[in-house]
Amino acid sequence: MGLDIGATKILGVVASADGEVLASVRVPSPAGGDRVVATAAEVVEKLRAASGGLGSGVVGVGIPGLVDVEHGTVRHAVNLGVADGYPFSERLGAASGARVVLDNDANAAALGAAALLGEQDVGYLSLGTGLAAALVLDGSLRRGSRNAAGEIGHIPVNPAGPRCECGQVGCLETVASGSAIAALWPGDGQPAAQALFDAAAAGSAGAAAVRDRFAARVADAVRLVALTVDPAVVVLGGGVAQVGERLRVAVAHALAEQAAASPFLRSLDLPGRLRLAPLDRPVAALGAALLGAS
Ligand SMILES: [Zn+2]
Repeated sequence: MGLDIGATKILGVVASADGEVLASVRVPSPAGGDRVVATAAEVVEKLRAASGGLGSGVVGVGIPGLVDVEHGTVRHAVNLGVADGYPFSERLGAASGARVVLDNDANAAALGAAALLGEQDVGYLSLGTGLAAALVLDGSLRRGSRNAAGEIGHIPVNPAGPRCECGQVGCLETVASGSAIAALWPGDGQPAAQALFDAAAAGSAGAAAVRDRFAARVADAVRLVALTVDPAVVVLGGGVAQVGERLRVAVAHALAEQAAASPFLRSLDLPGRLRLAPLDRPVAALGAALLGAS
């Protein structure tokens, strides 16, 4: 059983070992640690009822923020209103009667994407409000000594750039994230990425220019992951990836352009190693279920 807890919704699944979804439940996310726990416990109960009691022993949970995997606590889960250090695993365990395995949502999604794509070695780029990478290397999550492995959104790339929410200046996520798109191309009620890619496809030269510039900065993030840990594939996921294959094509094109003058980069075939997260599957919830199974 796996739960993907996001700022807007909690999606829970019961899945078989090969990734088949046997039951799923989706509810809106409340705000505040105790309320998130209570709602998550209801989702667990509904999943048990829907699956005839399956998945009752361990529940894997993916949640935004910096997760202390050992203690089951979370920090910087600002969108959910969960206080720093809140004992999430302990409280959900008590409320649900299950053992809870808590991890960062991008880590859960990376595990899910690796399983669904049949890959053992994956750099997963979560392009949402912010930008983060998660690393499944030789089949195992690399979390890092402070659970901060893959936080590439906060690598400063432009000393003349804007101040980032993290307090530094010119972080990569200020130019390569859903927020970066929204700042340049507000969606008018639609998700900004969708509005941008639609406008570009409809022939707007301005939109095409913004799209291509954005794709080039995502390509920078891909290069960063590829040249640091050299995973077999780099997967594009997160809310921005909902625009689908068009995103992969734009980023692959940018990677090819960046490699045009570099035999070194060309030899790495980054466009050929770029994948899109499976959009029709609950990648993060499935990955959370795998967290619990491991
Ligand atoms: Zn930052």
